[in-house]
Amino acid sequence: MGQGDEGRREAVGAAALFRGRRLVAGSVLRFPTLTEPDGHPMPPFVAAHTGREPEHLRLAPALCCLCGVEDADPIAVGTDFEYRTSPDEFLAVRCRRCRLVYLNPRPADDEAERIYPDDYHAFQFRPAEFGLVYRIRRRLEARRLLRWCRGLPTDARILDVGCGDGFHLGLLKEFGKPGWELEGVDADMRAVAPARASGLTIHLGSVEEIDLPASAYHLILMVMTVEHLADPLETIRSVARLLVPGGRLVVVTDNARSPDFALFGGRHWGGFHFPRHTYLFDKGTLAELGAAAGLAVERIATAVSPVNWVYSLRNWLDDWGAPRWVVNRLSLKATLPLGFFTLLDMPLAAVGQGAILHGTFRKPATGRTSTEPMIEKSLRETPSFLYSLLHGKYPQPMTGRG
Ligand SMILES: [Zn+2]
Repeated sequence: MGQGDEGRREAVGAAALFRGRRLVAGSVLRFPTLTEPDGHPMPPFVAAHTGREPEHLRLAPALCCLCGVEDADPIAVGTDFEYRTSPDEFLAVRCRRCRLVYLNPRPADDEAERIYPDDYHAFQFRPAEFGLVYRIRRRLEARRLLRWCRGLPTDARILDVGCGDGFHLGLLKEFGKPGWELEGVDADMRAVAPARASGLTIHLGSVEEIDLPASAYHLILMVMTVEHLADPLETIRSVARLLVPGGRLVVVTDNARSPDFALFGGRHWGGFHFPRHTYLFDKGTLAELGAAAGLAVERIATAVSPVNWVYSLRNWLDDWGAPRWVVNRLSLKATLPLGFFTLLDMPLAAVGQGAILHGTFRKPATGRTSTEPMIEKSLRETPSFLYSLLHGKYPQPMTGRG
């Protein structure tokens, strides 16, 4: 047993303690990287065939991307409930300065292939497999997309950052104006290949690296993308550069201040998506993200989504050893639970407590870059009654960049 094992036991002990919500702020939780004796990681499939323990992920420390420092309290510990890509337990923390939730430590950059396995849902949300759910989702998404496209010129240039298999671009191609120029960006070839195969223009890589034209796009979409990024602020800054003056950015992401988070946020919340979601926002931190990139905050709202409800319940049942057939009933293919939680989330979204966030931002036509006055007072304090009830106290309003 190496030193790493000692540290890991300590972390698991702390994790167990934390599940009882008694973890004291500032406790040292360390998740060291365990290496093979030869220092070389063994691929998971080799591990499976040799009957040895699956390899632990290499981890890297993280900072709050808004404050640029690490000054956070632990809030949750969990594992990769959905794909079991590693045996590790991961720690989510909340920045003391701005309330942003993030994974720390997180998988090292070169672990991406492992934490996004080939059967990852974003690579294969296929009509045949998802049937009715696919058709409903398609119709709802098309309506939502066209709402964001209101007022666009007939020759508008639209970019989907983190476009996956091209689902949203396909809808815009089908239901949008024929003159629109549609492009996507994704860093994973497994997503890019099928999107290109369906005739879409897709750039492989990240917006920071690819040489895309500045001040060229009228609308940029980031749908369920920002929570996966290594540095959301850097990416949003690059995105802001690509927008025409007056152009619009739409960000859709999980809401880390919602009733589903309040109920399951200590471990099982679907939005953690351990270890793939690096940063998780609420209305206030999402507004600050856009403002820090020099964008004007047009609107931050919540919307209905059953997905995190379904996965939270699934993770909870799984963790408590529920029979496999019960756990497997809860998935993105299961019409009944998706329908039930959609109905549950509808009144919550109506009072601004929906499970996902929609942020719309605009690049100022004047080139104004001062950010502070653009965040409305109302966005700084987004009270959640359930959150206060379950957690005893309401977290401090943000104090801006540290
Ligand atoms: Zn922060």
